[in-house]
Amino acid sequence: MPRKKMILDVDTGIDDALAIAYALGHAEEVDLIGVIATYGNALSEQTAKNSLELLALLGRPDIPVFIGERHALAASDFEVMPISAAIHGQNGVGDVALPAASRSVEAQNGVDFLIDAAHRYQADLIYLPTGPLTNLAKALQKDPAVAELIGQTTLMGGALTVPGNVTPFTEANINQDPEAANLVFQQQQGLTMVGLDVTLRTLLTKAETKEWRALGTKQASDYADIMDYYIDAYYNLDIDQKGAALHDPLAVAVALQPTLVSLFAINMMVTTDHKTGDYGRTIGDPARLKDKETNAQAALSVAVDRFLADFQATMLKVLQ
Ligand code: CA
Repeated sequence: MPRKKMILDVDTGIDDALAIAYALGHAEEVDLIGVIATYGNALSEQTAKNSLELLALLGRPDIPVFIGERHALAASDFEVMPISAAIHGQNGVGDVALPAASRSVEAQNGVDFLIDAAHRYQADLIYLPTGPLTNLAKALQKDPAVAELIGQTTLMGGALTVPGNVTPFTEANINQDPEAANLVFQQQQGLTMVGLDVTLRTLLTKAETKEWRALGTKQASDYADIMDYYIDAYYNLDIDQKGAALHDPLAVAVALQPTLVSLFAINMMVTTDHKTGDYGRTIGDPARLKDKETNAQAALSVAVDRFLADFQATMLKVLQ
C-alpha cells in the first residue's frame, strides 16, 4: 500500500513539537511532505523557526516549512496570550535554545501549498492542523474544491463532552479563530475532531522524559528539556499535576490508527455569536442534525494505555 501524504499545520508549541517527532517516527506509514506554520502558541515567524529547527534536530532538514496566515480571519493582528507563553515558553519550545537550522522557510504561502497539495494528492492526503483553523478556512475561501479534495482532515481542537480550557465552552485552538473553525466544520468533508474529550486523558510524565534523556543524544536531551518545561507548567499552573496532556501527538496517532478512539458521527458548528455567552463552542449544528450525511466525527474515548505505549516507543525510536 502506498504511503499516505501528511501535512502538519502547527503553531509549534511544545505538543506540536511532539506531533512532528511522532509523525517522523511513523515514516513507514506516512510521508510528511511539508509543515505549515501558523500563529497560536507563538507568532507565525517563531513557530516556523521552531519547526525548521526541530526538523533539522531530528535529521529531516529536507522537509519544507511554509508560513500560513498570521492572524485570525476577522482580525488584523495577533498577540500571543500570556497563558500560551506560560505553558510553552516565550519562544514556544520551553525557552530551550535549539541549534539553528540551515534551511529557511519556503517562499510560497502555506495556504497555497495546502491548496496545491489537495489537488495533487487528493484522497491520499492527510491534513492535520494542531493550531487555529485559519489556514484551512482561507484555503476554502480561495478554492472551495478543497472541501472535497483532501482525503482526511484530523484536527486537534474543540471540546464536545467536557468544558473548554479557555472558557467553560471554548478550547484554545478554536478560540484563536472561531469564525475560521465554523467555516471548516460547515464545509470540510472527512473531518475528525480530536478534542479535549480525549486529549486531556493522555498524560506524559518525567518518568518518560527520563527514559528519553538516557538515550544520550542531543535530540533526546533537547526534547526532554522542552517536555519537562511543559510538565512543570502543567504542575505550577495547576492544569494537571499528574502530567502534561499529549494533545497534538494524539491527533497524529488517531489519523494513523483510528481504532485508538471511539468516534461519534455528527454535523457540528462553532458558535460565533458574541451575545450567547458561548462564543467559540464546538457543538452539534441544529440546522444539520437531521441530515443523513455527516461530514465530521468527534473522538469521545481513547485507548489510553495503548496510545501511551505507542507514543513512548515512537519517541524512543525517533530520539535515539
Ligand atoms: Ca498546537
